[in-house]
Amino acid sequence: MRIANDAGRLTLMNGHGGLDVEKASSGIFGADPQDIYERWDEFRAWAATATGEYVPVATDTLQAPAPRPRQVFAIGLNYRAHAAESSLDEPTFPATFTKFPTSITGPYTTITLPSGTVDWEVEMVAVIGRRAYRVAEDQAWGHVAGLAVGQDLSERTVQLRPPVPQFSLGKSFPGFSPIGPNLVTVDELDSKDDLAIEARIDGEIVQSSRTSQMIFPIPVLIEKLSSICPLLPGDVIFTGTPAGVGAVREPPRFLQPGEVLESSIAGLGTMRHTFVGAGG
Ligand code: ZN
Repeated sequence: MRIANDAGRLTLMNGHGGLDVEKASSGIFGADPQDIYERWDEFRAWAATATGEYVPVATDTLQAPAPRPRQVFAIGLNYRAHAAESSLDEPTFPATFTKFPTSITGPYTTITLPSGTVDWEVEMVAVIGRRAYRVAEDQAWGHVAGLAVGQDLSERTVQLRPPVPQFSLGKSFPGFSPIGPNLVTVDELDSKDDLAIEARIDGEIVQSSRTSQMIFPIPVLIEKLSSICPLLPGDVIFTGTPAGVGAVREPPRFLQPGEVLESSIAGLGTMRHTFVGAGG
């Protein structure tokens, strides 16, 4: 199953377009995409037999499929090659921070660069579909509603300002947490643990890896995070970025006004973001 947030309305997607869930269910389910994760099992059962007219969905009205999570977890250094390029040791427990929810945006938006040191980080995103507290790794996929493409945009000056790094603030400017284009359930994927992941700037490939290269795969992340705090329906986990970010290049490279950043994961789709300077 694939769902989208079309102009704020929960939409079931297929190859032909989208089906408005509130209308097709005669109001059994509401229009707000964030609410559906509280009733995920019931919704999936309904969606399996849902009928109605699928109509074309314009990409420019799509918003994030989990627009207002109560908690957003983000994982640093979760790919060996990225830890190495950052000259940092591989973590023995997931290096965790948050991206404040006001930074979430849709899959095809225009984002303002607050400075000249904004970096890209394509990441797979997992959305929680069932409360998870002290969940073992072998039970963890049962708590995931689905997967999406994410970008962990990062203002490196704020993030790394001494004396201690400020990951959460540096990664929470407006628009810095795109999620989309759809939320895809894992039964749609041939190999949910090994998907090609890529970022391109104006068509040039800057990151290219596979999600099988994660140090802590999604079930392990859920086990570790839920050993400390409950994960709630609709919560979002940004699972870390592969190698190829701009800050560690020689010379460093950062996003520029007018550039177009595409973020892709095989089977999950492609997001496309355009950047403008702080002056507009
Ligand atoms: Zn990241």
